[in-house]
Amino acid sequence: MLFKEIIGQHELKRQLIQTVTDKRISHAQLFVGSEGSGNLALAIAYAQYICCHNKQADDSCGHCKSCIKFKKLVHPDIHFAFPVNTTSRVKKDATSDNFISQWREMVINFPYFGERRWYEFVGIENKQGNIGKLDAEAIQQKMNFKPFEADYKFMLIWMPERMNTTAANKLLKLIEEPPPNTLFLLVSKNIEQIIKTILSRTLLIRVPPVDEQSIRQMLTEKYDLSPNETQVLTRLATGDVLKAIKIHDRHEAEQDFFDKFQLLVRFAYGKNLAELLDWAEEMAQLGREQQKSFLYYSQQMIRENFILNRQLPNIAYSIDKEKDFSQKLSRFITPDNVENIYSAINLALLHIEHNGNQKIIFTDLGIIFAKLLKKV
Ligand SMILES: [Zn+2]
Repeated sequence: MLFKEIIGQHELKRQLIQTVTDKRISHAQLFVGSEGSGNLALAIAYAQYICCHNKQADDSCGHCKSCIKFKKLVHPDIHFAFPVNTTSRVKKDATSDNFISQWREMVINFPYFGERRWYEFVGIENKQGNIGKLDAEAIQQKMNFKPFEADYKFMLIWMPERMNTTAANKLLKLIEEPPPNTLFLLVSKNIEQIIKTILSRTLLIRVPPVDEQSIRQMLTEKYDLSPNETQVLTRLATGDVLKAIKIHDRHEAEQDFFDKFQLLVRFAYGKNLAELLDWAEEMAQLGREQQKSFLYYSQQMIRENFILNRQLPNIAYSIDKEKDFSQKLSRFITPDNVENIYSAINLALLHIEHNGNQKIIFTDLGIIFAKLLKKV
């Protein structure tokens, strides 16, 4: 992991590099920040920088023998521990080593993820993972070797808040007085949940939210958004890369719902029955959860357009097209029909919940819309 591959965090990167330049690398450091702050990626990039044979002023070289091994996370001097539990493959005594290849795959793919996502990826499902006694023993053993290739050996512990007391007690002395040239890098999102005795033995590094400019740049590079959409998404992300991506994905689904909603209104208003039937047919192909989300979205559109009709304060649109469309639609959502439209959508929701025939449900909805959307 190179520093430049990590989104934002320019000041913290500079500070970390400075500790290497000044040769004041603390032997146990705790990186604390949200999952979308880049805390895990920063800890790995830091270890890589310490080991790089050809350090640049602002990053690892990326090409030396050490960097190449770090890129694949197979450097023999970096070890990992993280919460695990049993799965259909690992039926008992689960340890981090049982999941190391999945860990590498996950981190290399995208080093921003939360606990839940990790459990889903390895098949732990709904159970809680933990770092237990067996992992603590493995850590003790690994840390007693001399470094193989680098000047240091590293133990990176992701989510130390999931370490149980037995494991923590086993590791206390090691973290307090590690063998020479040993570094502990702990990566956590919730400092309050870390066992106090471990906490007091580490140097705290707070990983702040990512700056807005870097989030905006990430969104621009990754997605095709208008400047206004990028701006709204950046603001909602509050410095969290994962949140930015999640909000974008929801936004994309809403774009699709908007297109479907616009068609419904257009065909209903034009009393175009053939097109309405085709529309209902297409809606019937969606999964029930998606159909429900679409209906909730439609309710929201009706509510907002009614507000607009009543000339109440402005609504903040995250989709540009919604604004233009609502300028026209709001004229037709009036006190005379708003309640009936709303109930029609509610009824459709209820029928979807009760496994009604989807094609009939959406055809009915289209016809009711056609009846209620009248010239004013
Ligand atoms: Zn290098």
